[in-house]
Amino acid sequence: MSKPSLWNNKKRYYDLKSFWLNRFGCRVYKLQIDAGFTCPNRDGTVSTGGCIYCDGRGSRLRQVGPLPSVAEQIRRGKEYYKKHRNAGKFIAYFQTFTNTYAQIEKLKELYDEALAEEDVIGLSVGTRPDCVADGIIKLFQDYTRERHIWLELGLQSIHEKTLRLINRGHSAAAFLEAVHRLSGSNIHVCTHIIVGLPGETREDILETARAIATLPIHGIKIHSLLALKGTVIGDLYEKGEITMFSRDDYITIVCDILEILPPEMVIQRLTADGYRDIFIGPKWAVNKMEVLNAIDRELDRRNTYQGINCVKNG
Ligand code: SF4
Repeated sequence: MSKPSLWNNKKRYYDLKSFWLNRFGCRVYKLQIDAGFTCPNRDGTVSTGGCIYCDGRGSRLRQVGPLPSVAEQIRRGKEYYKKHRNAGKFIAYFQTFTNTYAQIEKLKELYDEALAEEDVIGLSVGTRPDCVADGIIKLFQDYTRERHIWLELGLQSIHEKTLRLINRGHSAAAFLEAVHRLSGSNIHVCTHIIVGLPGETREDILETARAIATLPIHGIKIHSLLALKGTVIGDLYEKGEITMFSRDDYITIVCDILEILPPEMVIQRLTADGYRDIFIGPKWAVNKMEVLNAIDRELDRRNTYQGINCVKNG
């Protein structure tokens, strides 16, 4: 397989920046929004503990006082991009906690508020597979007539034993069922996986990638496991009861995953983000650019591309 021409980029994978440039002909930026949602895996509906790596603090905004309105958060974000970059268009990214976890009327009100802002061309909404009822899918499908819509479904691992261990509060089967119900819509589906979850072997991680490669999924975020203060993983890490991937192992497995994923799948992220003030480890994960550059170098060294080992490609 040679490098797909549809990427129209200099990379060995199909990054989000290139996807948007190809689609809209201009730079597109995501504006992070905290709309005040909670999560059923924290408020007692599914569980009270949350996922064992989740710090549960919400956004920085939430920590300093009452949340500004969605429109105000968008205006502030746009100001930043217009000042520091030659900004083009924007996607309102409902990021914090479970952003479909409310009555549908309330959801529509919040999404409409975002879409009413100038230069906002669409939404990216982070949620869980057990929080996408048919009515919510219909709402997003209606938006797709005029807007660019991504739904981000957290998965982390395709293995039920791992999902139980990390207290995800939903099964892999629930994820597959949600993806099935979204298939055939015009909604772009992005999923998230974590590399280095406790108890997972290298082969377990690659099985997750192979499973995702066969599904109607349009984008992926790949994260390394982070130890953050105030989380179960952070406590285990500080007590020396858990080991994290080394930087080299992470880079190797991310390249293996990229080779498995279909060439048309958009790679939205290859590194994790953790708050600096509660970050514990692994230390190498702090320098995101260094990790991204090392992934590029490893793909160069292998002379491979995203999709080269994709089962869909035979
Ligand atoms: S589903 Fe997301 S917000 Fe909820 S506990 Fe897990 S990581 Fe945190």
